[in-house]
Amino acid sequence: MNAPSARPARVLVTGASIAGPALAWGLDRAGFDVTLLERSDRQREAGQNIDVRGLGREVVRRMGLEDEVMARLTGEQGTRFVQESGRPYAEFPRVEGQDGPTAEVEILRGVLAGMLMDRVPEGVEVRYGDLVTAAEQDPAGVDVRFDGGAQGRYDLVLVAEGRSSRTRRLLFDEWTTYRDRGVSITYGTIERRDGDTDYWDWFTGTGGRVASIRPDDQGTLRASLSFASDPIGFESLPVESQLSILRERFAGAGWQSERILAGFEARPEEFYAQRMNQVVVSRWSTGRVALVGDAAWGSGPTGMGTTLALVGAHVLTGELARDVRSAGDSPTAAFDRYERLLRRYADSAQGLPPGGARALHPSSRLGVRAVQAVHRVSALPALQGLAQRHLLTSARHEPVLPDYPFAQAAEPGSTHRRR
Ligand SMILES: Cc1cc2nc3c(=O)[nH]c(=O)nc-3n(C[C@H](O)[C@H](O)[C@H](O)COP(=O)(O)OP(=O)(O)OC[C@H]3O[C@@H](n4cnc5c(N)ncnc54)[C@H](O)[C@@H]3O)c2cc1C
Repeated sequence: MNAPSARPARVLVTGASIAGPALAWGLDRAGFDVTLLERSDRQREAGQNIDVRGLGREVVRRMGLEDEVMARLTGEQGTRFVQESGRPYAEFPRVEGQDGPTAEVEILRGVLAGMLMDRVPEGVEVRYGDLVTAAEQDPAGVDVRFDGGAQGRYDLVLVAEGRSSRTRRLLFDEWTTYRDRGVSITYGTIERRDGDTDYWDWFTGTGGRVASIRPDDQGTLRASLSFASDPIGFESLPVESQLSILRERFAGAGWQSERILAGFEARPEEFYAQRMNQVVVSRWSTGRVALVGDAAWGSGPTGMGTTLALVGAHVLTGELARDVRSAGDSPTAAFDRYERLLRRYADSAQGLPPGGARALHPSSRLGVRAVQAVHRVSALPALQGLAQRHLLTSARHEPVLPDYPFAQAAEPGSTHRRR
């Protein structure tokens, strides 16, 4: 006769972007009973170019997704820092087998998230349009209340809700510190025109203003405008107000700023703003709840967020599968191993040096020249490898990824359509 604890552990995964579906895929294969919850009422397709670097590529391979991912790259040929005239003064070409500012794998976030969702097995219950409003745990489980009115009891809750995670605020507030980096970033899609290239072009203007455009695989360009500022709540304003502030702020900024602004205004539905801040959580688990992905270590676009989310989901699944076999088993040892394996890697890869983001947004002409000098020196062929190792920290403190049985023999290709 089966004891009640012989049933598979019930796991609630919150957030269905990158870390969430990667968790759901692995946990289901490892025999857990998984529910995947997403706050939006459908899969979110927004997002710009993201990088899959180093170990992230290995996880994609283990998930049987590598060919699919490689077939949907954005086609970005490299990164160029340009002067006001558009002439490049420092260039980092994309190199096979290496991850520079343009990684070998550049893909649109929505495309990768879609592929990961397609891999979520049928056995996983996927729920859109709801979120956790209360969670209370005892040694045997977590009682969860949902915004839609439902309640449930789970053996584990894994929080993959991104940087501004609400469930983290409910349960990890005392261990969480927010570091504001003094910069707001806006993103949007603009029309391609004759003369556009397949490079990521980056312009540093005066007045703490930076503009960039890069290719996608959909015949358009992805653009961003960022500016140094105190945290004034810009990100929570209506899009219309954000666009009008941006227009004032970028008046006379030079290069393609005017074109980008006009492009944003033409496609407001694809425009969004983000504050560059870092979330530092001094522990990633409490009792039966753990954080993963940007919810645990998010710091905005450092080029490592997606890689870390994939690796984090993979390691968390693998460690849980080692010793949480059924409902009554404690996850503490698995959570500890997960954090031990990844803490230094995540801290070093996702941490921005103090003042780092602001330093990239100088205010004076002299400051712009200083930033350009750093770009030029970093782009010298003899120094490119060094700059990449120390500025793009994909290899620093990289753990050895254990060979987890749950990931063996993953067949390539989509499991089925979820959207
Ligand atoms: C719409 C969108 C656009 C993005 N664009 C870019 C980009 O252009 N460049 C870049 O470098 N990075 C971007 N990112 C961030 C990037 O995806 C992450 O840095 C990285 O991939 C880590 O992924 P994650 O799964 O940990 O978190 P995220 O990708 O942030 O995903 C978190 C998910 O959780 C959901 N969620 C949030 N709160 C709750 C809740 N309370 N309950 C349930 N679900 C919740 C969100 O809707 C989202 O789907 C974007 C993320 C999103 C969601």
